[in-house]
Amino acid sequence: MMIDESPALPAPVGAGVYNVYTGAELGAAAGTVIPTAAELGLEPPRFCAGCGRRMIVQVRPTGWWAKCSRHGQVDSTDLDTRR
Ligand SMILES: [Zn+2]
Repeated sequence: MMIDESPALPAPVGAGVYNVYTGAELGAAAGTVIPTAAELGLEPPRFCAGCGRRMIVQVRPTGWWAKCSRHGQVDSTDLDTRR
């Protein structure tokens, strides 16, 4: 309910509309769950948080990138630099 931090994460992982791991729409019941960069470092997102589309995900030894056809690509290294 209280959102007084400006989201540091790019839309495909930080929009908070859809769960990035299940693709389920986040409602009032579920709350707005935005994974932290640390969580994303352990498990790459599968769905875009902004539109719920399944993203193209490429996992690498050093991280991952995930691409939404509408919201663009997110790289795990970007998340590190934004902390
Ligand atoms: Zn999207």
